[in-house]
Amino acid sequence: MKGRRTRDFVPFYVPPTDGREIREVTDSIRSGWLTTGPKVGLFEKKIAQHVGAHYAVAVNSCTAGLHLALAAAGVGPGDEVVTSPYTFAATGEAILYLGARPVFADIDPLTLNIDPDRLTRALTRSTRAIIPVHIAGLACDMKAIMSIARKRRIPVIDDAAHALGTEIGRRAIGAIADMTCFSFYATKNLTTGEGGMVTFDDRRMAERVRRLSLHGLTRDAWKRYSRAGSWRYDIVELGYKYNMTDVAAAIGLAQLTKFDRMQRRRRQIARRYTRLLAGEAAYETPVEIPGTTHAWHLYILRVNPGVLRIGRGAVIEALRDRGIGTSVHFQPLHLFSFYRKTFGYRRGAFPITERESARAISLPLYPGLSDAAVNRICEALLDLARRHRR
Ligand SMILES: *Cc1c(COP(=O)(O)O)cnc(C)c1O
Repeated sequence: MKGRRTRDFVPFYVPPTDGREIREVTDSIRSGWLTTGPKVGLFEKKIAQHVGAHYAVAVNSCTAGLHLALAAAGVGPGDEVVTSPYTFAATGEAILYLGARPVFADIDPLTLNIDPDRLTRALTRSTRAIIPVHIAGLACDMKAIMSIARKRRIPVIDDAAHALGTEIGRRAIGAIADMTCFSFYATKNLTTGEGGMVTFDDRRMAERVRRLSLHGLTRDAWKRYSRAGSWRYDIVELGYKYNMTDVAAAIGLAQLTKFDRMQRRRRQIARRYTRLLAGEAAYETPVEIPGTTHAWHLYILRVNPGVLRIGRGAVIEALRDRGIGTSVHFQPLHLFSFYRKTFGYRRGAFPITERESARAISLPLYPGLSDAAVNRICEALLDLARRHRR
């Protein structure tokens, strides 16, 4: 039994779905609402409540949400949007879809989040928006960022793909920036398979994003087909096809009923990793910031330089050989060949992002991960450190 367990693979991620999602989805299909309908409306209301925002608009991905939020903010060709190069492809793409230019500001090495001083230095007269990314679910310095943005009247659009459940004091991410984009992709803390949500305090922005999410039509399709609806609508601007389906919202509603419990389990796992690994000089464990709640989407461990004879890549391979799946979040966005070709970026352009990315390993972190699995992962990491110490 023991031998067998050691051979079992610990995947990097397993989605925490159970009978609740199956029941909600079945209910959706039985109701006849396959696309945007009452469950999407309910899911929007519940997410808005959950984060303390006035309005929420469901979309079919966070990428779509970022695209529409930037469009609603008036970003267009020739404009600049400042964000972090330590992020996923989506953040840069959304900016480029509108013909605007992503301008990167390097990160704070402790938090992996955009450094407010560098952000300030990246602003120009063409800056039309700022996108902070709350990496792993650790809050960006929103006090500094909002104050920089307010002074210059630049809208702040959060890439909160990792940050459902992140709080600063008692305020949740989702109720701080002008617009906040959440992801419900399969691996995110709350999933709808594919999906996203934008939250707002400004009604006009919310209405604009809603309209853009469905072809620029003046009314929701689901109202169009209901008793209260009418066949008449107008197309007031060029829109997109980014609406969420009721089948997806059904999964999200099921996930919401257990979200707080799932978050508690993530926090327990993260703290267990830190407790077991903190004494080992070969590794740097991720920080929490006092006064904030970390959403623990990812546990990004960093391999310290000069301690081991092997590098980050070899650690990842050794873990895989021991049946442990890991990942890397993120490779520097500016160094991908598309960005190099388009903008001429070279190695060294954002040295902190490059250095920290090169030593990052994301460890498995999901509600179904057992303490025994966490112990085994930590034992493997500690054993590797002992074997390969300089
Ligand atoms: C996952 C992710 C996104 C994109 O989310 P989708 O819902 O897949 O579009 C955007 N930004 C970051 C930082 C992400 O990790």
